[in-house]
Amino acid sequence: MTIALETNSVLKEYQLGELTVTAVDRVSIRIEAGEFVALVGPSGSGKTTMLAMIAGLLSPTQGSIHIGEAELGQLSEAERTQFRREKIGFTFQANNLVPYLTVLENVELMLRLNGRYSRAGQDRAIDLLTRLGLKERLHNLPSQLSGGQQQRVSIARALIHNPELVLADEPTASLDTERAYQVVQTFADLIHEQNRSGIMVTHDLRMCRYVDRVIQMVDGRLDRVISSPKEIAAFAGIYAEREDEIEYDD
Ligand code: ADP
Ligand code: MG
Repeated sequence: MTIALETNSVLKEYQLGELTVTAVDRVSIRIEAGEFVALVGPSGSGKTTMLAMIAGLLSPTQGSIHIGEAELGQLSEAERTQFRREKIGFTFQANNLVPYLTVLENVELMLRLNGRYSRAGQDRAIDLLTRLGLKERLHNLPSQLSGGQQQRVSIARALIHNPELVLADEPTASLDTERAYQVVQTFADLIHEQNRSGIMVTHDLRMCRYVDRVIQMVDGRLDRVISSPKEIAAFAGIYAEREDEIEYDD
C-alpha cells in the first residue's frame, strides 16, 4: 500500500488584529494511492483551507504535508509551483477557465504547461470531455457554456495530465442532481482506473456514495472518519435504496 498524501498535525491560524482564527486545528490524515475521499463538514470548518495547503497554495502555520516522496514545506516556491503543475490537479469553486480559449484548448493548456502536449494528449482531452458530456462543446468558448458545463471543463482540466492527486472543492455545486452523480462517478472511475488519489470537498452528502472514505471536519478539527462501505452508504443516505448493490465487509 502506497501512501499518496500524509498530513501531520497541520495547523493554520489567521491573525485578524488581536484575534487569532484557527482555520485548521492539527489535522493528520493519510490517503493511499487509488483512494477517493470526501471531505465534508459545515461551512467554515476549514475544508477549503485544508485543500489549499495540500495544493501547496497556502503554507501551514505548523505541521507538515507529504505528497508521494515530497514534503511541501521543504520545496522552494519555484519547486512547489512545478510540483503542483505536474503532480496535482485541482478544480476550485471559481473555475478560472481562460475566456479566450475554447473548451478543448482550456483542457490542453495543462499539457502545454507541462511540455506534454501531443496528439495522444489531444485524443485524451477529447475522450475526457466526452466522458463528461461535452463532446458537442469542444470548440465553444467558456462564455457560451452554462455554469455546470464550465464546471465540467474545469474537472477535465484537473484530470488531463494524470496527476497523482486530484483536489476538488465543491465540484458539483452548479450541477443538477443527475449530472452531479454522473460527474462524481466519472471522477471516481478515473481515479480508480489510474490508481490516483482524490479528495473532494462536498456539501452534498449524497455524492459520498462514490467515495472510499469520508473525512468530516468540525471547527477546524478532524471530527470523524468513516471507512466501512456500509457506514458510507448510510451516511450518503442510500442504505435502504442501494442495499442490493453494495458489498459489505461483515
Ligand atoms: P470551509 O471551506 O469549510 O467553509 P474555510 O477553510 O474557508 O472553511 O474557513 C475556515 C475558517 O477560517 C473560517 O472561520 C474562515 O472564516 C477562516 N478563514 C479562511 N480564510 C481566511 C483568511 N484569509 N483570513 C482570515 N480567516 C480566514
Ligand atoms: Mg470552502
